[in-house]
Parts: sequence; C-alpha cells; structure tokens
Amino acid sequence: MEHTISISASRERKVRDTSNMPFGVQPTEHMFMAVYRENTWEDARIIPFSNLQMSPLALCLHYGQTVFEGMKAFLMEDGGINIFRPDKHYERFNKSLERMCMPSVPKELFVGALRSLVQLDAGWVPEGEHGSLYLRPFMIATEERIGVKISDEYLFMVVATPAFQYYTQPLKIRVETEYTRAADGGTGAAKCGGNYGAAFYPSKLAREAGYDQVIWTDSKQHEYIEESGTMNLMFFIGDTLVTPPLSGTILDGVTRDSLLTLAKGAGMKVEVRPVRYRELQDALEHGVRLEAFGAGTAAVIAPVATIAIEGKEYSCYTGADARMYQLRDMLLRIRKGSDPDVHKWNYII
Ligand SMILES: *Cc1c(COP(=O)(O)O)cnc(C)c1O
Repeated sequence: MEHTISISASRERKVRDTSNMPFGVQPTEHMFMAVYRENTWEDARIIPFSNLQMSPLALCLHYGQTVFEGMKAFLMEDGGINIFRPDKHYERFNKSLERMCMPSVPKELFVGALRSLVQLDAGWVPEGEHGSLYLRPFMIATEERIGVKISDEYLFMVVATPAFQYYTQPLKIRVETEYTRAADGGTGAAKCGGNYGAAFYPSKLAREAGYDQVIWTDSKQHEYIEESGTMNLMFFIGDTLVTPPLSGTILDGVTRDSLLTLAKGAGMKVEVRPVRYRELQDALEHGVRLEAFGAGTAAVIAPVATIAIEGKEYSCYTGADARMYQLRDMLLRIRKGSDPDVHKWNYII
C-alpha cells in the first residue's frame, strides 16, 4: 500500500545555531505522526512540533505499551546528509513491537518518515566532528479505555533533537548482583519503555554510591555480564574484542553490531561469548590490559575507567592509544563519508 506523507511546514525555516543545545531538550521544528486504527496506518503527516492531545484513558498511560528507537543523521564531508543504518533500526523496531503486541509499521512509512523529517529540518543537523541529529521514532497505545487489554489504536511518531559528543569523564560503573534488568523470557531485548523505568532504582542507588551506572548481570546467578544503561558492553581483554552474545535479555545494539563488523574487517580478534565478571576481575588482578566501554547510538563509545566489584575498584585502560578509540574513529569516518562505506550503512538522503 502507498503511504503518502502530507507535509505542512512551519512558515519560519532557517539554519539553526545548534551549538550549546543540551541533548534531548530542544526538538527540531517539525515532527512526524501517523495513526493506526481499524488495522491500518493512516493520516501520515509532518507538522510543526507541538504538544499532543490525549485522553487520560489512553492505554499507554496505564499499561506500558510503548516502544522506541534511537538513531542518528550525520552531515557528511561533501555536504550530504545520511541516516545511519535505518534498515537495522527498522528490524529492531519491529521486533520490539511484536514483543509488545503492537502493529508493525511498513518499511516505506518508517524510512519515509525519517527521510522527510530530516530533509525538512536539515538545517538542524549540527556540523562538526561529533555533531549529529538524533532521531527518535516511537509508538504508543492510544485506545481510550481503562481496562487491561492490547490496544486497538496507536500513534507512531518521529521527533528529532541535535546531539553532540556526550563527552564527560570516562565512566565509573559497578557490577550489580542484587537487582535485575531483564530475565529469560522477559522483554530485555525489546526497546520498550518499561525496561527503563524499572532500571532507574538500582541506577539511582549506584549513583548515590558514587558510580555512573550499573553493569547488569544475568538474573539467575548474577555471574555473567549483560549490559549497562542504554549501552551494550564490550571489552578488549589483551588484544581480543569480547562481548556477550544476544541472549534475549540484552538489546541487539546497532553500534555493537557495527563495531563487531569493523573489528573483524580490521583483522582484530573478536569473541562473542558469555563473559563472567570474575573473568574480568581475574584479568584486572593479574595486570592484563583491559579496556571496557559502552557502545550505543547516543555516546557511540563510552570508555569505562573504573569497574567496582563487591566494593573493590579496578582501573581499566583508557590511554589515548586504546583500541576502543581506533574502533570509534573507524565508525565516525564512515559516517562522515571520509572512509568508503563498504557495508552500505549510510542511507544518503
Ligand atoms: C538502545 C540500547 C542499546 C544500544 O543500541 P544502539 O542501537 O547501539 O543504540 C543498548 N542497550 C539498551 C538497553 C538500549 O536501550
């Protein structure tokens, strides 16, 4: 089925000075929305950014049928703009939707919404090495009814906000062995709202103890590393890149997948296998050079300086020649168009 997207642009359009805009607070001028009712998507449109009107009975406000994606558009060296790996984000969006009993979005509608919005708000894509336009597709259940059920009506939207390097300090994180983010059979592999609300409390306790985040461990034995915050965790143990497998309890990160692909292509040793936190502790205690980093769209990579295990703090390697920075730079060069895009990751608009 054809999906035409009607566009009503705001009158005032200009190139924005996006420097100093805090991440996630300032939306661009427009937003995309489409409505699902009677088993079809309709009324796809881009309109000036505005508040939503919603009944307090809307199901999303009560029972958590919400799913989101997070992706980025980049200004390339030749002045073009690309959206990074929309296919892979689309696949994951649909997997999350299926797990939450929400209707899939046709691919042309998903990609068309992103393309049209980025074209219209192209003046908001920041320049500079670490700037990008963060894109947030999401879906919520809108049927008006108090009563626990799968919604029959939904809203699919895309909003955008300028993003810059999340450059803060390298992270201090602690291994969490009491609370659980996701259990086997649960929703850990879905980017659904409830996963994040449920993670706030243990993260808050970690912050109060002086850490930036927790390292989640498996729900059964609390022995195996899962992920951290909204990032997959990766390690260089010696010169081998190691990361836990997609067990069903962690997100299938697009950044994780991209970095694994680049590392293999560069001839690095790569192991995707379960990782016990005791293994990391062992390496750290025996002076093995260990790099640890989070991988995710928002931060690209977030170096970890300190890992705390049962109250004992260990230092990871974060020197300028760390391999994680080589990996990050390979990815940045592809996105900016300075290296060839052999994997066809850049969707140029
Ligand atoms: C979004 C997310 C990631 C990272 O995925 P990317 O596609 O690389 O941005 C990892 N873990 C969780 C829990 C996430 O929500």
